[in-house]
Amino acid sequence: MYVILAGRVKVVGRDALGRSMSPDEFLQRIGGTPEDLDVVPGEVIAELGQLSGNPSAIDVQAIDEVEAIVVPPDQLRALLIAEAELGERILRALILRRVAMIETGFGGPVLIGPLRSPEVTKLSNFLGRNGLPFRVIDPDEDTEASSLVARYAPNPSDLPLVVILGGAVLKNPTKQELAQALGLVARTLRSEPYDAAIVGAGPAGLAAAVYGASEGLSILVLEALTFGGQAGASARIENYLGFPTGISGQALMGRAITQAQKFGAEFSLSTLVKQLDCISESSGPDPVHILHLADGRQVRARAVVVATGARYRRPDVPNLTQFEGRGVSYWASPVEARLCRDEEVALLGGGNSAGQAAVFLSSYARHVRMLVRAPSLSNAMSRYLIDRIAASSNIAVLCETELVQLTGTPDQGLQRVRWRNRRTGDEEEHAISHLFLFTGADPITSWLDGCGVNLDEKGFIRTGADVGSPGHQLLAMETGVEGIFAIGDVRSGSVKRVGAAIGEGAAVVAQLHSFLARRGSAASRKR
Ligand SMILES: Cc1cc2nc3c(=O)[nH]c(=O)nc-3n(C[C@H](O)[C@H](O)[C@H](O)COP(=O)(O)OP(=O)(O)OC[C@H]3O[C@@H](n4cnc5c(N)ncnc54)[C@H](O)[C@@H]3O)c2cc1C
Repeated sequence: MYVILAGRVKVVGRDALGRSMSPDEFLQRIGGTPEDLDVVPGEVIAELGQLSGNPSAIDVQAIDEVEAIVVPPDQLRALLIAEAELGERILRALILRRVAMIETGFGGPVLIGPLRSPEVTKLSNFLGRNGLPFRVIDPDEDTEASSLVARYAPNPSDLPLVVILGGAVLKNPTKQELAQALGLVARTLRSEPYDAAIVGAGPAGLAAAVYGASEGLSILVLEALTFGGQAGASARIENYLGFPTGISGQALMGRAITQAQKFGAEFSLSTLVKQLDCISESSGPDPVHILHLADGRQVRARAVVVATGARYRRPDVPNLTQFEGRGVSYWASPVEARLCRDEEVALLGGGNSAGQAAVFLSSYARHVRMLVRAPSLSNAMSRYLIDRIAASSNIAVLCETELVQLTGTPDQGLQRVRWRNRRTGDEEEHAISHLFLFTGADPITSWLDGCGVNLDEKGFIRTGADVGSPGHQLLAMETGVEGIFAIGDVRSGSVKRVGAAIGEGAAVVAQLHSFLARRGSAASRKR
């Protein structure tokens, strides 16, 4: 962050291709007056990425000679905490700036490729889920983009090209490669042990990070994909306390990661934990667990909080995986909603997430067909959603119905969907190229194999009284393996809701403190 003491600076909108937006166009998109683009003495230049030491996604130009104080990321975080009122104003400004940048798409990477290609959709989703600004340019409609394609991507399989701020060009990158190029994967991890490694950045893991870091623990959060977990895929969460008009999962989780970073929690996204080694360094004066990451690196932590949630269940239909990202989706974000505007869509599932998605999609799609296995919606869906679905003229609910067949081609993706009424055996087939699956989820625990963590009959992790014995009582989220805690959806008996996951994330921190104190670990004595 820079605090301007003298001179004048102007904010400019610029994309990774180096193209700047005229001040008029910039203001038209973000609102405000020309003066808003001038930074004058007493004001600050800062961008949200700087909280975590990432490069700023915004450009400024000095208009005349400038004198400024440079505040590095760790001191910026310290300031936000020490000066509550000032900290709130700065953080609010950073969040509003980032929102404006996401709306304009300026300041982030540029994707060059056919707008509707599955690869562009996949990377757009990834960037959107990470709360990053980006733009998509179709080379057929932009001469500069088409000359870049001619130069860098002679083969169609090289598309999309992704141009990163700074000029690097990636050819049809995987999400992992893109994450690395954008600095989402932590470049350096400290060698001394963290007080706690949190595995999973869904609501449970993010809450544990906020409370743990704010209470002085050294915290590293490792997340295989993007922050937010299942909640991040929710179009609108209407039952989370304090948001009477609802909030998108993305917005709620975006605020949470910013909050955790403010308190100094470290994050490594797109970082899969492959295995937990509970044995190698489990004795000695400061015993630790070793987490093996898929990229070959290792992390050492005194305690491990398992917050790995659950993975979407796949219905047993041939060819299903062939259409994933090519018409079959496990969530309904604005990206998918735009793709199915005015089209007919099918949605499988009868729980709350299916209901929310159906209501959300109904304002984009021409017609939404809900395929539900149960005889009615009332078994698994909240009343308010059932009422809303009943009131929507373009949602049809087909109960006692199962998916039978998907038809399409690798190029064009899904084209037809066939289903069967389980009671009558009658089948129907429709020209549908968007199918949304909301069929539940299985706990993610295979990376804990060999660790001795106790699972229930469905594979969820048992904790507390479920694994303790009269002579060996455990705290509510302790797994029975020294220093390993489980929270959120992955925990046996947990309530599978955002609010519950967040509550468990907060509660586990008190248990971490008592565990570290019991051990007399160097870290807990020091703090
Ligand atoms: C579409 C949808 C809508 C929903 N809407 C609502 C709602 O409106 N209200 C409500 O209360 N609940 C809702 N839910 C349920 C709610 O989202 C979940 O209960 C909640 O997200 C669980 O949080 P969690 O942190 O325990 O796990 P998750 O959200 O599942 O997060 C787990 C995280 O761990 C990561 N992970 C897994 N394995 C590894 C590994 N080996 N290494 C590193 N990272 C790993 C995953 O990538 C994931 O990000 C919804 C769920 C879905 C799918």
